[in-house]
Amino acid sequence: MVPVRLNDVAHRRFDPLKGSWVLLASPHKNKRPRQGHKEAVESGDKPAYDPKCYLCPCNHRANGVRNPQYTGTFLFENDYSTVRMDEGEYDTDTCKKGASSWLQLTLPGLIMADSLQDCASGLLRAEVVIGRCYVLTYSPNHHYTISDMAPEEVLAIIEAWTTVYARYLSPDNPVRRSTTSISSHGPSFGDETTSNTTNLRYMQIFDNNGEIVGCSNTHPHGQIWITSSMPDEVRLELAQMSKYRKDHCGRHLLEDYARLELDRKERVVWQNDGFMAICPWWAVWPFEVLLLPKRHIRGLVDLNKAESLQFAEAILHVTRSYDNLFGMTFPYISALHQAPLNGTEAEMNSSYLHMHFSPPLLLPSVKKFFGGYELHGEPTREITPEAAAAFLRHSGTQLPVCADNLKAAQPQSQKGAVLVGSPDGVFCRGGTSTWWERVLRTSRWVKLWLF
Ligand SMILES: [Zn+2]
Ligand SMILES: [Zn+2]
Repeated sequence: MVPVRLNDVAHRRFDPLKGSWVLLASPHKNKRPRQGHKEAVESGDKPAYDPKCYLCPCNHRANGVRNPQYTGTFLFENDYSTVRMDEGEYDTDTCKKGASSWLQLTLPGLIMADSLQDCASGLLRAEVVIGRCYVLTYSPNHHYTISDMAPEEVLAIIEAWTTVYARYLSPDNPVRRSTTSISSHGPSFGDETTSNTTNLRYMQIFDNNGEIVGCSNTHPHGQIWITSSMPDEVRLELAQMSKYRKDHCGRHLLEDYARLELDRKERVVWQNDGFMAICPWWAVWPFEVLLLPKRHIRGLVDLNKAESLQFAEAILHVTRSYDNLFGMTFPYISALHQAPLNGTEAEMNSSYLHMHFSPPLLLPSVKKFFGGYELHGEPTREITPEAAAAFLRHSGTQLPVCADNLKAAQPQSQKGAVLVGSPDGVFCRGGTSTWWERVLRTSRWVKLWLF
């Protein structure tokens, strides 16, 4: 258990994955009255097919291409890719010359032109990024979310990710030796992968789920960006994991962390034989979840069939827990991190597959904002990860329940519930209760913000 004294005081927690800190201000910050902007809760009413949706089967996309009558997942290259394989060469002299002229005009005689050239090469750096962006629809059903799906349907998404990852692995990547075990049920590719892909460094899989996180289309889908550069967040994590492995006789940071959390249990949301979902010690977002395999897995191609299904069940459980706890289709951003497409053997062996879930909401109608302290100081969070884990743990594994049912079941005597983080994960003040009563009270508390 976390010492009670720690939760009674504002404190910082260290994030070993990024080497950064997060400030837990929960004991004091949650006593503030909440006023001001509240987010509109998204309506759950969507048709199974939307004739205006550019991702539904047989509909035309913006570039005029017609989608096939697909029945499972559907992969296509993004019509408005952020990066392209045919990007032009970058003229590295442009910034240097511009900087020299400006400084010479402004500070005549103070800095010599040669020195300015040196400054520019260090201070005005840029590099070209090439790559390819894909869209992966998860289902032909427009109204679905992942939490509505069967484990086998989520497994099909993982198989599609695995197929794309295997296709873009560098030929000499040691991880590639595992690719013989991948499923043959993945998506088909066009001719685009025949171009030279050896310079591609990383494949980022992510999902912006919900209008509040900027998703422009509510059809269930995610994105896959493949780039010649290593995204900065991944670079930081890989550097930290490599250092830990070097400093701890080859042990892995996330494997050790998974063992520690299984022993402590207080931040574990759910687990099966192969995977565990936790609210990490260093979580920034109120209901942030980290999904970890229990054994060292470098990338998707290391998963065997049973583990892929366990991974699917874990993803399904996390999304259903969100929906159940809040009585709505809960928005989140998710991202999968794994071994790079191209890199050294040391980098591959230091990599550890994991998935981040970062929901932006504290309550259904209250968004967590990054203000001046968070943006220019360090992140803060309002409730403890132990409290968030307890609520997600008790939110149920069934299909999302109806919020109105929860409201009707709420005893009147529990009015006036107040958001309070505490060591045993109870938000509401006063009395003892079963876990189910706590969930009902939470739902009651959630409804206070809805109406
Ligand atoms: Zn659609
Ligand atoms: Zn990560």
